[in-house]
Formats: sequence, C-alpha cells, structure tokens
Amino acid sequence: MTVVSVRSPGASCPGASRCGHSPDDREETAMHDHAHGPLQHPRHDHRKLGRELGLFDTDPLIGAGLPYWLPDGAAVRHALEEYIRDAERRAGYRHVYSPVLGKRELYEISGHWAHYSDDMFPPMDLGGEQVVLRPSLCPHHALIYRSRARSYREMPLRMAELGGMYRSELSGVLGGLTRVRAIQLNDAHIFCTLEQVAEEARAALGMIRRAYEALGVVPARYRLSLPGPGGKYVDAPDLWRRSTALLTEALDRSGLPYEAAEGEAAFYGPKIDVQVRDGAGRESTLSTVQVDFHQPERFDLRYVGADGARHRPVMVHRSIVGSVERAVAHLVERHGGAFPAWLAPTQLAILPVSDTEVPAADALADRCTALGLRVEVAPPDRGSLGARVRAARLVPYQAVLGARETAEDRLALRLRDGRRPGSLPVDEALDRIGALVRAHSTALWDD
Ligand SMILES: [Zn+2]
Repeated sequence: MTVVSVRSPGASCPGASRCGHSPDDREETAMHDHAHGPLQHPRHDHRKLGRELGLFDTDPLIGAGLPYWLPDGAAVRHALEEYIRDAERRAGYRHVYSPVLGKRELYEISGHWAHYSDDMFPPMDLGGEQVVLRPSLCPHHALIYRSRARSYREMPLRMAELGGMYRSELSGVLGGLTRVRAIQLNDAHIFCTLEQVAEEARAALGMIRRAYEALGVVPARYRLSLPGPGGKYVDAPDLWRRSTALLTEALDRSGLPYEAAEGEAAFYGPKIDVQVRDGAGRESTLSTVQVDFHQPERFDLRYVGADGARHRPVMVHRSIVGSVERAVAHLVERHGGAFPAWLAPTQLAILPVSDTEVPAADALADRCTALGLRVEVAPPDRGSLGARVRAARLVPYQAVLGARETAEDRLALRLRDGRRPGSLPVDEALDRIGALVRAHSTALWDD
C-alpha cells in the first residue's frame, strides 16, 4: 500500500486528520467566510468574550497560539473534561496517558514524517536521537496496543486519552482558541474485529449525540466524508469500499440523516464528521468517527482469534468533542457566555442585601462549596443590589439574601432566564440545583 500524496493541508495529517480528530478546519472556514458575509457579532466572538469573561488570554512572552486558561476558563474546561472522561468510563473505555514527544522514527512509520512534517514542530536533537512534539495521539496508542499479546476476548478494546498534541501553525493565522499550536485532544481508539466496527461506530455516534444534548450544541449536519476526483488517496480500493460500507451501516443503524460529501475524506480513509456552525454561520468539524485499516498495517497490529490464528484488528478513531480548545470556543459562542449550569464557571451568585447578611452569605457559600457547587459572594461594596444582579446576569442561579432569608434559612432564588422559583428552604434549593448539575441538564429548573 502506498501513500502517494495528499489533497490538501486539511486532509494531510495521517494522525490528526487520519483521526479526523483534527481541530483543523482551515478549508471550511475559508469557504464559508465569503458565503456568510459580515464577521460574527462581537458578542458571539469567543476571543472577545473569552477576554471579557476572564476565561483565557495570551502573553507575547509565552507566544502566539499558546493561550493560557484563567480560573473561570479552567473551571469550564475541567467540567467538560470530567464529563467526557465519565461518559467514556461508562461506555467501557479505559484511559491511558502517553507522552507528548516521540522519536522521529515513530512518525516515519505512521506516515506523518512523509506527509505532515510541514505542520510539525522541527525535531529536537537529543544525544544523537531526534524527538518531535507529536502531531497526533494515534501512533502512541497503536504502540500501547502492541505492547501486549492481544486476544479476540479483549475486543473491542477501547483506549481513550485527553492528551496534548502540537501543530506548527503560522503565527499569522493564530487566534483565540480555534487556531492554536498546543492542542488538548479528546481522543480514543477502538481496536476491534471487522464484525464489531459498525456497532462501535454507532455507539460512538450515540455518545456524540448525548454529549451535544448536555452541552446544548446543535449539529448542523452529519457528513459522510468520501474521497473526491483528483485527490491523491491511499491506493487500496477494496479497503475504501469496506470502510465506507461500515460507516454507512453505522449511520443507517443510528437513523441519522446525513449527506455524503466528496473530497472531504482523509487521504487514508472515509470518515463521519459532525459539523457545527458558529455565530457567523461558518461550519467546522467538532466530532468525528473513522474506520482505519491503514494504521494497523503500518504498525503490524495483531490479535489471536478464536481459531488460534493471528488476525489484523481494525482501528476506529473517534472524538466526541474534538479538541478541548475548539469545543470551549464553540460553547462560548453558542451560549454567549451563558453556559449550562453544570459548565458555568460560577453556578450560584449569593447577593447579601446589606453588610449584615455578609457573614450568612459566606457561611452559605461554604455550604455550597462543600456540596461541589461553584459559588461566588457579591457583597454590597460591589454596588447596589440591581447592579450586582446585572453583573451576575450570566450566572445560572442568583440567591438574594435578606434578613428574612437569613433568619429562616431560606433562599430567594432567581434564575438567569428571569424566572423566580420563590423562597425555598436552603437545603431544598441546593438539592434541586445539585440534581440538575449532576444530570448535566441544560434546563435551569424542574418545574
Ligand atoms: Zn486517531
């Protein structure tokens, strides 16, 4: 099997694009910039909102495309990462950690060195060896798979990692969280038999659908990304037919409407891409599911079958939310900073009416923190009650604490959407908020 060339920068990564976990949507962004005219409303620009809301920032001394996350941004990211890890645990994935560096030789085997080195950081010479910052996680996972003899009884073997990868984007195109040089990828590889592929792909689509519900994300469309005329793809027509048939079967079993798109496949295989749209209507890929016969060959992966013979596994690459950076950027724009309660940096704002209630507000904050809620007290020295209510307008829950609430251990709750559930005993109010948060609900209240 030969890898001849690649059709475009976006499809050139045998890892990021191979996985299709690539946060790279250069082509699509470029295409849609023109179609949708004016730039998005500033309110829905994650770069502007990210700074205003204190989520992330950059420093020229750290470098372009290398944002750091402030505490509120880190809280959102942490909630997202925990959701993903938990969803993966429940779906039978085992998590691994692997280093962000690898020897040049590793990427020569995977094909990155030949086809993707332009997007990789230059190698570092270390005692006669060359090591590089990795452009994808797949090669490390293939080696972890290969580190033990594998049996068909272990299949499907689901390996997941939220891991770092790097892309040497040019500084001119860097910005916010969507064009970065350091990427944290929600990645997973399922090593399975040919018979298990369609079911694993269908299950991955189910995880994506549930995650979107929890995140309040609406898919623009599901795309079956196929090779197109003129493109230079891995020359293995039979493998292309088989992987396309498997992905089609997974889509059909899921009952999802989808569109086939020629010219959008990775150079080594077709993929299912879940497309989302930003505030300006620009489309990008958030999630993907891919079937890969190529990498198992490159790394000579095997398992012992029920017949006692050695067989080649298939690799299903899948990502629920793509890169954490791109996912948070999309969430910021999608919600305009008004995140679902379980993601919100501050979930409950406590507003004491006067200085008299400040000690009670602090005690209430401690109670909330002990329950795992993210809470902030906004005392009277920050302004009038009205001003503090406005300042906390993106916080899902606000509790105004006056003399009566303090005396009776009750909360006068206001919801971000303007509803007022009324005065409730503190325990009941916190129970109900906690239940909605634990359920990853996008609803602010259960009436
Ligand atoms: Zn992969």
